[in-house]
Amino acid sequence: MRLVLIGAPGSGKGTQAKFLTEKYNIPQVSTGDLLRAAVAAQTPLGRQAKAVMDAGQLVPNDIVMGMIRERIMRPDAENGFILDGFPRNLEQAEALDKLLATLGRPIDAVLQIDVDFDLLMQRMVGRLTCLSCGALFNSFTNPPAIDTQCDLCGGSLHHRSDDNEETIDRRLRVYEMHTQPLSAYYNNRGNLHKIDGQGTVEEIMKRIKSALRGMRSSRIKLQPLAQAPVKKTSSKPEVIRTQVEDKSKVVPKQKKRESAAINPVVKKRAKTRNAAAQAKYREQLKSLQNELKNVQSELKEVARSEKQAVRQVEKNQAELEKLTERAAKLK
Ligand code: AMP
Repeated sequence: MRLVLIGAPGSGKGTQAKFLTEKYNIPQVSTGDLLRAAVAAQTPLGRQAKAVMDAGQLVPNDIVMGMIRERIMRPDAENGFILDGFPRNLEQAEALDKLLATLGRPIDAVLQIDVDFDLLMQRMVGRLTCLSCGALFNSFTNPPAIDTQCDLCGGSLHHRSDDNEETIDRRLRVYEMHTQPLSAYYNNRGNLHKIDGQGTVEEIMKRIKSALRGMRSSRIKLQPLAQAPVKKTSSKPEVIRTQVEDKSKVVPKQKKRESAAINPVVKKRAKTRNAAAQAKYREQLKSLQNELKNVQSELKEVARSEKQAVRQVEKNQAELEKLTERAAKLK
């Protein structure tokens, strides 16, 4: 099972990833955790990432992509993985799709955990993580018995340096701008499941379980045999098609060949349509990105002129003061 968890910081991705890890016996791959480990170990990558993380911004894509590539190639990820906090923008999502396509291991499902922004702030400001076992507590909603100690293993509890109001606010804005568009991206691919992330941990787990169960049953559902809409002519119960082959209705070999000949044509048409839709989507995306770049450079220009104007006003004021002084002396 290959899963992606998306959701704002503090939406509970980490907590749910831990439950999924146990359920499917696959590793949780959190780019945030990998980056924090690199920061703690003071590796060159960690030193580079620290300032960006403390500012609540996104670490450059190539760094994160390199980490992901290395991590999912490890033997423990052979049967699947849960990506937590990755991808964080469209570029990462596209790079991930390419990477998994070359490995022949596409994503099975994307779970998007939705939580109100006000609640997120409260969750993160109080968030405490055990340095030994990774258990999560919250000083407001789920406090540990002893302030600084993990209830489960006795390890020390740690409050993340980027879990302060100012950085959280910036991280939420970064999420809105860069990560939320992933919802449409995965929805178009048909593998997005939106999960209401409010309620108890167990309630959210249940919602995830039922989404994944639904995914499995929709995978084994048979496609309709004909394109014609099914008309309900009576109140008789619907006939349920099963996958069991009815030997009395075996299609003669000639007919089988004909239908097999139609399939590639239909498939090709669908492929062309998908490719066209994707190309259109990419074009729209590019033009939006260009627009964004233009707006950003305009904003920079405005900020520069504003600074210049302020400097000029200060200069004029100083000049005025000097002139006033001179005038006073002349009197
Ligand atoms: P998290 O623990 O997922 O909230 O991540 C903490 C910080 O690590 C984020 O605020 C980013 O600075 C950085 N980070 C984590 N994952 C990514 C990613 N996929 N892309 C870029 N930066 C990331």
